[in-house]
Amino acid sequence: MKIIINNALTTSHLLGGNGHDLVSISLAIEKGKIVQISECPLPAPQGTSTEKPSEKVIDATGLFLSPGLLDPQVHFREPGMEYKEDIASGSRAAVKGGFTSVVSMPNTTPTADNEDTIAFMVEKASTTGLCKVYPTGALSKGLEGKEITDFETLQAAGAVAITDDGKGVQNNSLFKQALINAKALGIPVLDHSEDERLSNGGAIHEGDVSRKHNVKGIKASSESVHVKRGCDYSAETGGHYHVLHVSTADSIEAIRQAKAKGANVTVEVSPHHLLLCDEDILVKADGTLDANWKMNPPLRSKHDMLACREALTEGIIDAIATDHAPHEKALPIEKAPFGIIGLETAFALIYTHFVKTGKLNLNTAIDLMSKQAGAIFNIKCGRIKEGANADLALFDLNTPFTVTPSFFASKSQNSPFINKTLYGETYYTLVNGEIKYARP
Ligand SMILES: [Zn+2]
Repeated sequence: MKIIINNALTTSHLLGGNGHDLVSISLAIEKGKIVQISECPLPAPQGTSTEKPSEKVIDATGLFLSPGLLDPQVHFREPGMEYKEDIASGSRAAVKGGFTSVVSMPNTTPTADNEDTIAFMVEKASTTGLCKVYPTGALSKGLEGKEITDFETLQAAGAVAITDDGKGVQNNSLFKQALINAKALGIPVLDHSEDERLSNGGAIHEGDVSRKHNVKGIKASSESVHVKRGCDYSAETGGHYHVLHVSTADSIEAIRQAKAKGANVTVEVSPHHLLLCDEDILVKADGTLDANWKMNPPLRSKHDMLACREALTEGIIDAIATDHAPHEKALPIEKAPFGIIGLETAFALIYTHFVKTGKLNLNTAIDLMSKQAGAIFNIKCGRIKEGANADLALFDLNTPFTVTPSFFASKSQNSPFINKTLYGETYYTLVNGEIKYARP
């Protein structure tokens, strides 16, 4: 089917040129590709009588056209924990947020440490997924940090990266070997940087808030110790070391230094670590802390949060990642699982708090959520060009909307951003030229 998008606003930068000013464009999409880009509106295609005109022509007047977004880190829970999320519901959340591609983590049941599980995910994504799902393979068997997996087999089955995300790799020589093995295959090792001797079973960041509420804390150094290790090993081996969900000032300093020396290191940050700190954790009426503010790495100190913001505006950060992790949270904070959903709100949070306030250029924000995020995995995306895949999102940048529990497409609503008013609501998401989300 042919689809026309008329009168959308975008920038010449996103069209592959230079320039930040908004320009009005119209597009024709056919067989999954962008076949024509025009300055003038295009005529409605001739279709069969069963197709409604509204399904063929999108009037995008006043809407901003972005390349489809790519999230480098999501947890879709399938196979094994489909009651929390599955590929169908997770990808529904993705397209609701303007994401057309996601990289999924291997902490499923069974673990994605074997070709069959990865092949299952690829197959399931092609049948029930609304967006493109790129699986990762586990670094160690069962994420146990003992026995290294066969990266070549995992890559052949479809894995775009290697990671034990969900857990830090405690064994130094195993981690170094992973960088060496992955380098030979041209894929990155993604690190959930956590030294368990320092995180020590804590529930929130160790600091004034954990002490005040008598909750066991996670030391900031639990992350930075592993980030420094990864940067050193990357410099030594030449392997591509990618830091997942960075959250502390010391980690950022280590990455800054490694990048200055030209090390093969990349880093992502999550909207919640940019926008919230431990002081923001909601205190419930009974005086206890709300578990929707519990994630791993935890919301850190204000100093750490400000360091993440500085790294973002300074250009140290390569990508924005949600770490979308659906969970039921009706438990005391010590007992509740770690995790936050994020696909539906990520773009709007970044747009509202960084672009609209003038801290970050719109093009840079989109690049961090598409082209640059894809580059970590050698996935080409992030430009609106004739001949390119029609992976696109249309956002309303001007009308405020409020996040409610029913706003989420995920199976869970574990978000600390409920009740927040944001800008940048998704109106349409197209994956391979098909409309996968249309705002009701
Ligand atoms: Zn993680």
